[in-house]
Amino acid sequence: MAKIRFLGTCSGTEPILGMHHTSFILETNGVNYWFDAGENCSYYAFTSSVDVMNTKALFISHTHIDHTGGLANLLHSIRKLIVRENRSLINEKLKVFIPKKEILDCAVTLVTNGRPNDFDIVEYNSVQDGVLFEDRNVKVTALHNRHLGEDGSNGWHSYSYLIEVEGKKIVFSGDVKNSVELDELIGSHCDLLLHETGHHKVEKVLDYVVSKPVKKMRFIHHGREIINEPIKCENLCATYSEKYGVDIKIARDLNVEEI
Ligand SMILES: [Zn+2]
Repeated sequence: MAKIRFLGTCSGTEPILGMHHTSFILETNGVNYWFDAGENCSYYAFTSSVDVMNTKALFISHTHIDHTGGLANLLHSIRKLIVRENRSLINEKLKVFIPKKEILDCAVTLVTNGRPNDFDIVEYNSVQDGVLFEDRNVKVTALHNRHLGEDGSNGWHSYSYLIEVEGKKIVFSGDVKNSVELDELIGSHCDLLLHETGHHKVEKVLDYVVSKPVKKMRFIHHGREIINEPIKCENLCATYSEKYGVDIKIARDLNVEEI
């Protein structure tokens, strides 16, 4: 059974006790697929006994620091295991799908103390609309969104993802300007929607979700409303769940969700 392991569920706030910037892992058939890399993701993965060497691919929604702040540390951790324990990655290289190559280059520069040629364990991949990645476990499709206020004339640099695994459909919003940008990825049904609230009112997202063919929804990338008024927000989720028959909850760091 596939699992989502939440390593960070907070939006780009200042440090908040028990909540870290956005990151989660999809685990299936002993392989990890990593989505976003908030500042604490490597620490939580290690301390949750995730074997990071079984990571095949990492998908970044966009390169704001609350989605990439842990990237260098994750690469450093993998390199440590290779050098000190003589371990190998599940594939020769970790595939990194990232909308701006220079941010991956920055992370590699940091890990190598300015000698990026010493580092050959990542494979850069650009992100564009359409199927990005497919293996025998998962298929990942990207669709741009307007979180960064772009018009596309210089390309798109913020994406939402559709993840197909074990016959189920998961949609990860990334950061979106408007929930309707997810319509196309949700399509005729969605088994699990991971929707951010860093830029949206909880009730507005709930109204959107119950109008769509979504079976289960988890709030992630929490903004001030969930941070400051968690009980009110949990009650709202419970009310909508009961009224509309959709399983809706607020994800917390280190929660594991079976798909
Ligand atoms: Zn964000």
